[in-house]
Amino acid sequence: MNKNQRSLKVIIIDASSGFYHMDHYPIGIFFGPVDLGIHLAHKHNSLNIGVGLLAGSIFPGSNRLIVNGISPCWHGFFISSMGGAGLIFENLGINMLSIVGKSSRPSLLYLNRIHGEEIEIELIPVRPREIWSSGRKGVYAVMEYALDKFANRYENDPRVLSVGPASYYTDFGAIASVTVHKGELTHVDTWAGRGGFGTKMLMEHGIIGIIYGGTYIDEDFCDRTVADSWFQDKYKQKLASKDFEATTKYRFDPKFDTGGTFGVNYTTLEERIIAFNYRTIFMPKEERLAIHKNLIVDHYLKQFNEETIKAKQQKTCGEPCAAVCKKMRGEFKKDYEPYQAMGPLCGVFDQRAAELLVHHADTLGFDAISVGGIISWLMECLAEGDLKPEEIGIDGIPVFTAENFRVVEDSLHNGQIGMQILNQIITDNGKINLNEGARKFARHLAREKGKNVLDKFVYVGFARHGWIVPNQYWSPGVLSPMAIMGKYYMNYSKDFIEPRELGREDAKRMIMELMMDNMGICRFHRAWAEDIMPEIIEQLFGIKEEFLASLKLTASRINSRNASTFWESERNIDFIHSFLLKKQNEDGVDDPSLRDWLKRFSDDKYKAALDFWYDIHKGIHESLREF
Ligand code: SF4
Repeated sequence: MNKNQRSLKVIIIDASSGFYHMDHYPIGIFFGPVDLGIHLAHKHNSLNIGVGLLAGSIFPGSNRLIVNGISPCWHGFFISSMGGAGLIFENLGINMLSIVGKSSRPSLLYLNRIHGEEIEIELIPVRPREIWSSGRKGVYAVMEYALDKFANRYENDPRVLSVGPASYYTDFGAIASVTVHKGELTHVDTWAGRGGFGTKMLMEHGIIGIIYGGTYIDEDFCDRTVADSWFQDKYKQKLASKDFEATTKYRFDPKFDTGGTFGVNYTTLEERIIAFNYRTIFMPKEERLAIHKNLIVDHYLKQFNEETIKAKQQKTCGEPCAAVCKKMRGEFKKDYEPYQAMGPLCGVFDQRAAELLVHHADTLGFDAISVGGIISWLMECLAEGDLKPEEIGIDGIPVFTAENFRVVEDSLHNGQIGMQILNQIITDNGKINLNEGARKFARHLAREKGKNVLDKFVYVGFARHGWIVPNQYWSPGVLSPMAIMGKYYMNYSKDFIEPRELGREDAKRMIMELMMDNMGICRFHRAWAEDIMPEIIEQLFGIKEEFLASLKLTASRINSRNASTFWESERNIDFIHSFLLKKQNEDGVDDPSLRDWLKRFSDDKYKAALDFWYDIHKGIHESLREF
């Protein structure tokens, strides 16, 4: 973005009429898509899509596309983001697109800016079901359709945001986008996966996809010599070498002989592995280590390392980036969380079976983590006899134990059951109705079948119906009562942190992550970006103090609407309790606070969990205040 720019340019489109207008918001009061997004979301319930102030600059990772608004599944303000999609958005010469109103017929939104001309905007009525069942199907078919119709109107490759059937049938559909090369869709998909913004786009605004691009050229910050001098002063390294060092994990880490979140996390998890709908938390350490060794290291991870890492199958999200974090095998992209939530969590430990399941969920446009949590929960209910297969419209019982697990056959069997569950969710009058979300569905099931059904579902609750499946780490932080959960606005350390302090740490992480999101920076570059960003703002705009004050204000604003609810499922409580037991018994942590909590949990785990939850909450609230 041009450093002489003094306001953020927002195009506000009313999807009900197709009318639009441009608004300007002063930089210094607003700094990016998040603080401006909160303002607009609470005013108009808009869906906001924008880039940070450094988009188009030489800073690696600065072209993330930020999506925010009131989430249909979380029921509070939420932020999601997508790698690289901001680079092409920047060619529109605006900072943000804000959609209000709902189109009377499902439509595709077309945005194009040719040189200095005004942005061309059209809303084209479409038939979603026809599109979703054509070509590459689902979200990919929407992208194909948009390119087919409009690619010839662009001088440079455009990009398409799209939604799939999951956005129609559930409250947690995602927004997808695949990089485009010379007019052709590649297989590198990127996701604004969390928070149900696909559902919001389709059900609240009537939009199935957005094709955008242009040739607008801004005077973005591109002075490498100047940027290098800032980095030299601070790190005694140039920007490129600091970034190269900071992104080792995501590219290739020689320490572990692998790379990417999938490779490094699975190499290092060991006994902290989570599998079979979290049932691993009840297993002795040896059993967890055996799962990690036999099913992960010797098979699931081995396949990944051979097929992806050794074969150097890696790409970027669309922006020039030395991290090349997109680890591929043909048409499949391997990230830790989707391949964990629809992998080991669902009893799938084989790449072929996981590819089938993840790709099916992706095609339908699901939030991979949340849907993985739902599948694994229902699978355990089937395996335990809490539910009969016909009651949820499927046939077959999953193999849900590590004992005598046949890694290829049983993974495939479980993967196929997972696919049946997905199909049932996206069928009219299907037996798994997630129209109003998984928490409400679980509540209904519990009324019919008993609370033991709900007790196996691990989710974080917000307000009366809001829910999200947590990030895939065995750490109390992932169940924190933060105002935004399901992303890294919390501390997910594997260490024991006393809960009040954990709340404070959550708050610190939230502020840092918020800064990355508001600046549109990819968090994989956070090792330098969090540290130096205030100085970059000072150098370019001369308003570092205002930037930091605004960040604090934004965090307190988000937290002022924190309607987190105490853990409803017993598995959440056991997740915390087992973590504390592990710290004492396996990791040898000798801490009076840990001993005290363990005593309280063994006396009455529900009462102790409530106190633990409230202590995290206190730490959060005492930290996220404006003054
Ligand atoms: S680390 Fe990955 S997602 Fe982030 S900018 Fe680089 S290629 Fe894109």
